[in-house]
Amino acid sequence: IIIADNVHKWYGKFHALRGISLTVNLGEVVVLMGPSGSGKSTLIRTFNALEDYQKGKIEIDGITLSHDLRNIEAIRREVGMVFQQFNLFPHLTVIQNITLAPIWVRHLPKVKAKELAIQLLERVGILEQAYKYPGQLSGGQQQRVAIARALAMQPKIMLFDEPTSALDPEMVREVLEVMRSLARDGMTMVVVTHEVGFAREVADRVILMDNGNLVESATPDSFFNNPQEERTRQFLSQIL
Ligand code: ATP
Ligand code: MG
Repeated sequence: IIIADNVHKWYGKFHALRGISLTVNLGEVVVLMGPSGSGKSTLIRTFNALEDYQKGKIEIDGITLSHDLRNIEAIRREVGMVFQQFNLFPHLTVIQNITLAPIWVRHLPKVKAKELAIQLLERVGILEQAYKYPGQLSGGQQQRVAIARALAMQPKIMLFDEPTSALDPEMVREVLEVMRSLARDGMTMVVVTHEVGFAREVADRVILMDNGNLVESATPDSFFNNPQEERTRQFLSQIL
């Protein structure tokens, strides 16, 4: 459902992605790991056209991601994204945050959008917070709102960029639990995270990025227990 073929990106003169080729199949969960500055965020941001790229090709669910703005809109509708900083609208309630895009972008009637939002809030376990403002919620609750908001667009793919890195430890688990249940329901997911437990249990594939390259791509078992690349061993020795 995602096909990246020899993708290169430069920020000015800086070569941030150096020929990335990667296929993600429908229903697959791929975890991206790698040191700071290795290009993880840049790569997943190219998958929903938050970043452009200069060479190669990206295809999302059969749509080629070019510089054509119409395609970018189609892609954004299919690909949901959750960030480290939750990026909720502070002046809107939880339910307004979730219904905004379905009403204005998907043209869903308000009543339908609200029904959907309530369903999603139930799914992420915070229905009772529906009429609060983001500032009144814990970090873990805010991140679950952000996940519900992304799901409200009924995307085919969900991208997560270090969704638990800004959370206090006791809130990490509740967010990972929501992500785990999404994976169980068959959502296609690309997740940048350093949560080794999550990667081991949930990922179909774990990928190491370094310096704009894909170093190793393997099943969690092989990645963590029997890495093939010296660079992966070195990375794991720092995080395990
Ligand atoms: P982290 O783990 O710290 O989030 P990352 O693997 O997500 O790191 P990226 O954010 O993708 O790394 O950045 C890759 C490289 O591109 C870094 O060297 C970074 O400084 C550079 N970079 C990222 N965004 C920009 C930008 N807007 N302009 C210029 N350089 C950038
Ligand atoms: Mg990053």
